[in-house]
Amino acid sequence: MVNTYLLYDETKEAAVIDCGASTAAEKAQLSDFVKNNGLTLKQLVNTHLHFDHVLGNRFVYENYGLKPKYNSGDEPMQKTMSRISPIKYDPVLAGDYLNENDEISFGNTTLKVFQTPGHSPGSLSFYSEKDGCVFTGDALFHLDIGRTDLWGGNHSELIASIREKLLTLPAETLVYPGHEEPSTIEEEKLYNPHLNIL
Ligand SMILES: [Zn+2]
Repeated sequence: MVNTYLLYDETKEAAVIDCGASTAAEKAQLSDFVKNNGLTLKQLVNTHLHFDHVLGNRFVYENYGLKPKYNSGDEPMQKTMSRISPIKYDPVLAGDYLNENDEISFGNTTLKVFQTPGHSPGSLSFYSEKDGCVFTGDALFHLDIGRTDLWGGNHSELIASIREKLLTLPAETLVYPGHEEPSTIEEEKLYNPHLNIL
């Protein structure tokens, strides 16, 4: 149900955003793709720590030796969530914490980190200026925004995050959300009913 993004460039170095792989088939799909394309995984990052976005972290850690990088703001929630979520899992703690303006590098590619809290306190977005795309986790969806009724959610904080950090990106920027289909900044500015831009 979650979008797991596997990014790579001409160097064949790769990064995984929000590894949701939890079934044997999902894990095989990921590892087969890595193998068949000769990729080297260099980064594992999470937009936030809701269970569906981190289920595959242990698989990546045990098979590729990568610890996840994420913002510390969601960590207090993670212990409880790993026990009460519909799928039980054993969280992998951060190799590094990510904060505003940090950079995630693999090959010739750099993702810039934006803190976009509101859906959860530690929510992050990852922006590639070179490739003109932003990975928004559960902050901004196609014509929708993240829910704010979960642990640490805050509606006005979410709206401020979206307006100040995401809608200020170039209009043609592709938006890759944590669920469902992609969009663009322009489309969300014009038509997202939750944002009232005009
Ligand atoms: Zn979420």
